[in-house]
Amino acid sequence: MSKRPNPNLAKIHRNYTVEEVADLFSIHKNTVRLWVKDGLATNDDKRPMLILGSNLRDFLQAKRKSKKRKCLPFEIYCVRCRLPQLPAENMVDYESINCSMGRLIGLCPSCGGIINKYFNIAQLEQIQGKLDITLPKALKHINESA
Ligand SMILES: [Zn+2]
Repeated sequence: MSKRPNPNLAKIHRNYTVEEVADLFSIHKNTVRLWVKDGLATNDDKRPMLILGSNLRDFLQAKRKSKKRKCLPFEIYCVRCRLPQLPAENMVDYESINCSMGRLIGLCPSCGGIINKYFNIAQLEQIQGKLDITLPKALKHINESA
């Protein structure tokens, strides 16, 4: 399974044993031990080793961030999911800022939130075919004649 553990599953005021963390995220105990080696804080003076939920959550969120990859031209970064997302139904609106710059606005397919990014109209060819872009009428005209 390649699904990433969801940091929000960790209850911040709870203490977890290694086994409980493994159960929580359906992962192997050794993965949890690797996280500890990797910097996940524990109460290492006590046995059994306990991990505070808030530390677990912080650790996983930081881990996600470090894996953050750049958006492809047709993806928009979702601040809620903290991931580049392909807009729902591949549909975006183009909102013009000036003659060369605008904003692409779409919906995140995972959380349903609005996602948007700045976009240079010169890059239009890179994303046409990938995304269904709703252009304001004036721009549609420019694009057709170009
Ligand atoms: Zn999202």
